[in-house]
This record gives sequence, structure tokens and C-alpha cells, in this order.
Amino acid sequence: MNIILLGPPGAGKGTQAHRLVAQHGMRQLSTGDMLRAAVKAQTPVGMEAKAIMDRGELVSDEIVSALIDAELAAMPDATGAIFDGYPRTRAQAEQLDELLAKHGRKLDRVIELQVDEDALVDRITGRFTCAKCGEGYHDRHKQPATEGVCDKCGSTEFKRRPDDNEETVRHRMQVYRSETAPILPYYEEQGLVSRVDGMGSITDVTESIDALIAD
Ligand code: AMP
Repeated sequence: MNIILLGPPGAGKGTQAHRLVAQHGMRQLSTGDMLRAAVKAQTPVGMEAKAIMDRGELVSDEIVSALIDAELAAMPDATGAIFDGYPRTRAQAEQLDELLAKHGRKLDRVIELQVDEDALVDRITGRFTCAKCGEGYHDRHKQPATEGVCDKCGSTEFKRRPDDNEETVRHRMQVYRSETAPILPYYEEQGLVSRVDGMGSITDVTESIDALIAD
């Protein structure tokens, strides 16, 4: 099974991808995570991407598609892929088709998480994650049970993304509307798109996605 999770920043793509990984043994392929790792490691790609990411603009199609190509090459054939934050442009959607064919895969579904944009700004500007296991938290909606200690792994280190401030978030949403949402018709023509209400609880959204995957 190979699926794309599509939706604006803060729609819950990463959260849901984590759950699919845990429940179905799939692999999350998040170009945002890969780019952040490259920035941290100060690789040439990371150095080129950092300023672009800080502004909330898109990194070049060639860079992100090369990252996906390398990940697919390293994955066992039987492991399903969840594309999270990729593709983000029409060119990337076409490149993904080529990459899937090259690696003997096909796209099964595109799941669009539908969300209210004002609520997203609230979600994104309060979010933080465990620096060790990646569990997600929120200043206003989901604090750890013991302050400063990760519920899942006990780590006391947390991190926030530098691009999760209101100004950049609003710009990222505008980029989503102008560059990414227009790829939906491309997948609609192929009958691949399903829509899920992304404003429900995390568990409700997971259940809706599970129902689509089992279908
Ligand atoms: P994300 O974690 O998916 O919100 O991505 C964070 C940032 O990384 C984005 O605002 C872009 O600057 C960059 N990025 C991530 N994925 C892509 C992609 N598929 N195409 C272009 N830029 C990307």
C-alpha cells in the first residue's frame, strides 16, 4: 500500500503518519523531516534548504524528489510508503509517478485531510515534540501528563520548529493553496482521492483513515 497524506500545514499529516507506521508497519516518508535532518547535519542540501524553509517557501522539486528516490531505493518492496508533505507541486506529483514506476510501486490512495485554516494557526503555533521519540504535544491542547517529561519515552528534551511562528505559518498556508492544492485534480482524474475530516480528535481521524485503507 502506498498512500499520500495531503493537507495544509498543521492538518495532522505527521501525527497520522506516525500512527500508521505503528499500526501497519508502513514507512513514513516526510520530506520536511528529511530536510530538517539535512539542516541539522549541515549537509550541502541542508545549507541550501535552511533559509528557504525559514521563510516558508518551497525547496526545489529536484532536491525533494531525489530525497524520496533514495528512501524508496532503500526500502523493502513489501513495506508500504506514506508520503507526508510530498508531493507539493504538480512537477513533484509527476516525478513521484516516475519514481514509483522505477521502484515497482503504484499509488493506492491520496487522502486529503480537510481542516479549518484559522484553527490550524492555533494548532501549529502551540505545537512541540519530544526530541527523542518524536511524540507530539501542544501548549494548550496536549501537555505531557508530568510537566517537562515525555509520556511515551520519559525524555526531558523537547523541540519546536523554527518555522512554526504565525507569520511563516500564514505564508506556508498561502503556498499550500497556490502550489499544492492544485495537484488534487491530477489525482482526482485518476480516481485516487478520498477526503477525511481532519478537525476531529486524533483517534477519530485515524479511524477514518484506517477505514479507507482497509477498503
Ligand atoms: P513540512 O514539515 O512538511 O511542513 O515542511 C517544512 C518545510 O520544508 C516546508 O515549508 C518547505 O520549505 C520544505 N519542504 C518540505 N517538503 C517539501 C516539498 N515536498 N517540496 C518543497 N519544499 C518542501
